[in-house]
Amino acid sequence: MALILHDIKVWNTGEVIDLIVPSDTDETVDASAMTIAPGFEDPHVHFRDPGQTYKESMISGCAAAASGGYTNVLIMPNTVPAMDGVKVEAGQPGASEVLDAGYDTVIDYLQHYEAAHGVKLPVRYDLCVCASKGRAGREATEPADWIGYLPGHGDAGKDAYQLAHPVTAISDDGSAVTPGILDQVFANVKESGLYLIEHCEHHDTGAVNEGPVSRRLGVPGIPEDTELKIVERDIEMARTTGVHVHFQHVSTAISFETIRRAKAEGLPITCETAPHYIALCDEALLEYGTLAKMNPPLRSEADRRATITAVADGTVDLLATDHAPHTMEEKGLGFLDAPNGIIGLECAYGVCHKVLVDGGHISDERLIELMSTGPAELMGHDKTDAAALLDENADAVPGDSDTKRVLDLGKVTHPENVDLVVLDTAEEWTVDPERFHSSARNTPFGGWQVTGRPLATIIGSKLAFSRINKED
Ligand SMILES: [Zn+2]
Ligand SMILES: [Zn+2]
Repeated sequence: MALILHDIKVWNTGEVIDLIVPSDTDETVDASAMTIAPGFEDPHVHFRDPGQTYKESMISGCAAAASGGYTNVLIMPNTVPAMDGVKVEAGQPGASEVLDAGYDTVIDYLQHYEAAHGVKLPVRYDLCVCASKGRAGREATEPADWIGYLPGHGDAGKDAYQLAHPVTAISDDGSAVTPGILDQVFANVKESGLYLIEHCEHHDTGAVNEGPVSRRLGVPGIPEDTELKIVERDIEMARTTGVHVHFQHVSTAISFETIRRAKAEGLPITCETAPHYIALCDEALLEYGTLAKMNPPLRSEADRRATITAVADGTVDLLATDHAPHTMEEKGLGFLDAPNGIIGLECAYGVCHKVLVDGGHISDERLIELMSTGPAELMGHDKTDAAALLDENADAVPGDSDTKRVLDLGKVTHPENVDLVVLDTAEEWTVDPERFHSSARNTPFGGWQVTGRPLATIIGSKLAFSRINKED
């Protein structure tokens, strides 16, 4: 049985084909408004499992990712306990979830999540290990605690090449690597061959961007140079160590300018920004309250425009959501006490399409690259190339036009490697957080009219999620 998508467009070649996807039901769909593209990947998500599953679990987080067109995500290490490779101890917050499942580290718990919970998760995921023990910034993690989980670093009896969820990056996301352990962390990153994901901020006070809005709200501000100082520091570290540093959620014009110069020098630097820094500035605080509170904070309108420029000129390598689930009760605590962050997986494509593509800043193809091949390159994944698959596997369609080709995912040579997203690049829709698959609702984009919608995700040649012909 199969889902047949008639007349679907291949994202980068524009070729119109028929796509056959193995499925539980037989269905033929007019897909002339649809595009097939490499599955989206997000190297920056917080799924709160273990420890804070009332905000989000691996199950709800992965469902949200699949619904947003993602086939692969990188789990950030600020779980509870933190994902540092250290054995958890009974009585520690969140420890019971790990221990009751039969594991003694968070890495092992997430490595075996599906077996322990008797579930099949609809997206692939990799793990990001902490730079510091407990993510507390005082002591660097011990590579011995996590190096056995790297792709290709199998030891301790673990067949690392077979790991479904390898450790592929190091980060203390939520704060920057602290100065006292910086040299040791870079040495660890270098030894492991991984890359450092850096959250570029150091500040003790401040809840929103420093400027007219923070003064109007009477809320302590965060100066823009908090980000710049870490960007500059780590560019120098990248220069002297050769370690690849990936800057997360870059938000200011001055940081982009600095990164632009470092990249021109050929330093091993990459960076991402998030949909909210493209779509919103700090004036959004006046409209959305704490639903517009995140870290780094939404910056000035000039910074927002500079962010779009950095996306358009290639300074930004990829778009990541920083999907950060919190309950609405937590977000209701006011500007000073509400936790930072918003969820993003289920409307990232639509919001970015609306601002970047409809706004005339980048093409449809470039947006897809920024959400699929760009992050895949960072994370070291091979992306499915539909055009190459066609050349290797396509047959003529019997009785159909002799020019149109057909790609039968049930017949490709390595079906397990085929991850794709089906998009309607023109669909207009309204973001409704009540219909999100995430457990969380903390987004300022509820009610936004956006364009471009993921319709289905295909993982290992199988349909992992679909809203085609469904009310969803
Ligand atoms: Zn961060
Ligand atoms: Zn984050």
